[in-house]
Amino acid sequence: MAASISDNISNVKRRIALACERAGRQALDVKLVAVSKELDVERFKEIIPFGLKVFGENRVQDFLKKFDAVDADLEWHIIGHLQRNKARALVGKVSLIHSLDSLNLAATLNRLSEIQGYPWQVLVQVNVAGEDTKFGLHPSALSSFLDEIREMSGLKVWGLMTIAPYCKDPEEARPIFRRLRELKEEMSRTKPWLELRHLSMGMSNDFEVAVEEGATLVRVGSTLFGSYS
Ligand SMILES: *Cc1c(COP(=O)(O)O)cnc(C)c1O
Repeated sequence: MAASISDNISNVKRRIALACERAGRQALDVKLVAVSKELDVERFKEIIPFGLKVFGENRVQDFLKKFDAVDADLEWHIIGHLQRNKARALVGKVSLIHSLDSLNLAATLNRLSEIQGYPWQVLVQVNVAGEDTKFGLHPSALSSFLDEIREMSGLKVWGLMTIAPYCKDPEEARPIFRRLRELKEEMSRTKPWLELRHLSMGMSNDFEVAVEEGATLVRVGSTLFGSYS
């Protein structure tokens, strides 16, 4: 089992590097966010020695259990819909929130940043495919959303995030990823005060296509840990 985890990690890293090569990008520009949500705390502790440093969780309770259980110097990202009343528990503990999806949440985080003592680093989640089942702003609402949170000094918006619909053929996700990249370019051009650096896109099924389309953060869970959880 141990061998297979380290194989999985090196495989995913190799596939990211190859996708970068195809796209003429530097492998260093893509960060692997290991999604540990399917691992319980015991399993999670077992995979720490394999050297992954950046972890993504989508439920606050699951994140806190793991955060409290390990001393290792890890970087934590919240990647799923965040309820406002759970945000306080994250103060001082997370490096990036990928899933800013409403003005209410923005206002809550902005207020909490005073307790935290520094701004939250966030990505705005965009529901590019317009699926009813997914959170995130409609692409047409993104521009005014960014204007509305501009004055919130407790938020630092570093980019955009999306979740593509699951398709057997990852090529079908390509237009979604491309659209997110275009939105980032469009927002950067029309709002020079923004510093959008990141595109969080791509999961186990489609991360290579996402990297080819410009992802800087890929969120991979089952391909790393599927056999282990
Ligand atoms: C679970 C999850 C992932 C990882 O999905 P896999 O298909 O297991 O790689 C990525 N992003 C989000 C938002 C998730 O909830």
